[in-house]
Amino acid sequence: MSKPIPEITLNDGVTLPVIGLGTYTLRGSEGVHAIVSAIEMGYRLLDSAYNYENEGTVGEAVRRSSVPREQLRIASKLPGRYHAYDKAVKAIQESLYRANLDYYDLYLIHWPNPKQDLYLEAWQALIDAKKWGLVRSIGVSNFLPEHIERLVKETGVKPSVNQIELHPFFNQAEQRKWHAANNIVTESWSPLARANDILQNDTLQKIANRHNKSVPQVILRWHYQLGAISIPKSSSPARQLENLSIFDFSLDETEMSMISGLTRPDGRIRNQDPAVYEEF
Ligand code: NAP
Repeated sequence: MSKPIPEITLNDGVTLPVIGLGTYTLRGSEGVHAIVSAIEMGYRLLDSAYNYENEGTVGEAVRRSSVPREQLRIASKLPGRYHAYDKAVKAIQESLYRANLDYYDLYLIHWPNPKQDLYLEAWQALIDAKKWGLVRSIGVSNFLPEHIERLVKETGVKPSVNQIELHPFFNQAEQRKWHAANNIVTESWSPLARANDILQNDTLQKIANRHNKSVPQVILRWHYQLGAISIPKSSSPARQLENLSIFDFSLDETEMSMISGLTRPDGRIRNQDPAVYEEF
């Protein structure tokens, strides 16, 4: 097993490990095996979503693992079609029934869907779900500062986390700065940019060689040193372990800037700009 994973304390006192397992596409018995393997390897944070149709798979893996429920941090997300208050409350309850869990540690609004303009109602439902003990911490995903400012202005409740697209090709410098100034933790989705051409990148390869590490390990170390929680997805036990083994080396300032310098204005994987993109 690799070194223990450091933790971050959120603005509501809940703690999360700095690396978790992304679970998008992990479903059915193969998915259960992959998630159990990750838990046994040391992963304690699992990132799911109503729309991944795998909350049941995640819940089953939790029950089959040897780790007590309370030592895990399980997250899910509310889909856009259920933002209206009553629908949101029922969706959160349904999320729990699907996973056969009594509570989630973290529940996020998956996308703001600004044209639909119901994310404020969704936020009120998350606030109430927390009061009722259905979730321990509430946050958002893909929210721009203007969306979060509106939540805080209208409800007085700040999200603990904003999960956003973040990898070397899209480093989100401005948004991260804003989160830090507002005591909101940044969580990186697609932290490996889905591990396609990025694995062949010369700059990353050179840095990896220097440290005798792999390119994914260098990228995940970069996320950690930026102060962001990353949730790489892997179905392979060997790659799950590789992705956790990043606490025995560090990147210097020059290396950090070289990696951040790979960012491009069009660096998003699928051009999903939350100001206009909507997902239901
Ligand atoms: P990712 O974690 O950046 O990359 C996953 C891909 O990388 C998989 O194909 C995986 O293949 C491969 N991989 C993982 N580790 C590797 C390694 N060490 N070496 C080589 N290849 C490796 O992409 P992602 O799944 O899109 O993002 C991670 C998680 O973020 C998702 O699973 C989901 O939980 C979350 N997410 C959230 C949103 C949102 O809107 N909030 C959007 C997208 C994703 P193998 O499985 O074969 O190892």
